Amino acid sequence: MSGPTMEASARACANIALAKYWGKADVKRNIPAVPSISLTLDQLVTETRVRFDPSLSSDLVRLDGRRATEAEADRVVAMLDRVRREARLRLRAQVSSHNHFPTAAGLASSASGFAALAASASAAAGIRFNARRLSALARASSASAARSIYGGFVELPAGSRGDAELAARPIAPPGHWNVRLVVALTDPGKKKVGSTEGMERSRKTSPYYEAWLDQAPKWSRKIKRAIKERDLDTLGEAMEQSTLAFHCCAITSAPPIFYWAPATLSALATVRGLRERGVSVWATMDAGPHVKALCGVGDASRIRQALDRTQGVTRTWVAKPGPDIEVHR
Ligand code: ADP
Repeated sequence: MSGPTMEASARACANIALAKYWGKADVKRNIPAVPSISLTLDQLVTETRVRFDPSLSSDLVRLDGRRATEAEADRVVAMLDRVRREARLRLRAQVSSHNHFPTAAGLASSASGFAALAASASAAAGIRFNARRLSALARASSASAARSIYGGFVELPAGSRGDAELAARPIAPPGHWNVRLVVALTDPGKKKVGSTEGMERSRKTSPYYEAWLDQAPKWSRKIKRAIKERDLDTLGEAMEQSTLAFHCCAITSAPPIFYWAPATLSALATVRGLRERGVSVWATMDAGPHVKALCGVGDASRIRQALDRTQGVTRTWVAKPGPDIEVHR
């Protein structure tokens, strides 16, 4: 198969885990050990274009307008190889991707990045996957990418070793619940310990890892129910517990993994202070220092202002539930 039409692009939104993902049941196949639930975010977008080209002798990968590092390119090529196997294709590809927000900084660029890559590469190769197959393909590179195939509220079940078809599924579309997520950037740097390495370190060394595996499904069930019932306080409380328990695992790993910056604690105090004054707002952090505050649409600008005034917060966004992935052939 070859020709000028072997090109496609995709636009995917990152997502924030409301029920946190931390820990793998199968590292090689990238199977999560706990169920996770996320909200796809309209403001954090990746756009990726892939072109299979008979004139290329190796894959060329550009990320954010520069040549990808070797480590970044290796992860992209691993996905291209999966797609080539499916399509029985040998051609090398040119990949160009832009994250319209900071890369590798704890804002889930890997989620939107690998979702957009899975979709654009398979479309360019002429494969018409349904959303479930696309989600399983994206999941092989990054579990959170499996969730970025869908808009709105999404779950990724826990899997077991060898579960190659494990995929995310939608819980509710973006229009189900008009919540807002105020993202407070606390530190523009890259994260020091990547998620895969951090999870494995926690599994091997944290005394709280087993307790995390034991408790995480309970928070996930509670969050799913709260989404269906549009119950922000129940969701928020379970999300904060899930967040703190996962960070507890990271912090108690050896050597410890601190994703937090001083401004993380300041922003958490801002959120708690607002709540004490009667605002329904709840915080979460992924494997990074940024604080994301979940709230109702009417409170978002006030919360944003308070986070903007918080020491160490460098930038804020207000994101709303984002759409499904888009693919253009
Ligand atoms: P993040 O919190 O941003 O997801 P991670 O360290 O988990 O941070 O993942 C970042 C890595 O994901 C990058 O170093 C790169 O390898 C990969 N990545 C990020 N964005 C893209 C993209 N648009 N296309 C391909 N790979 C990407």
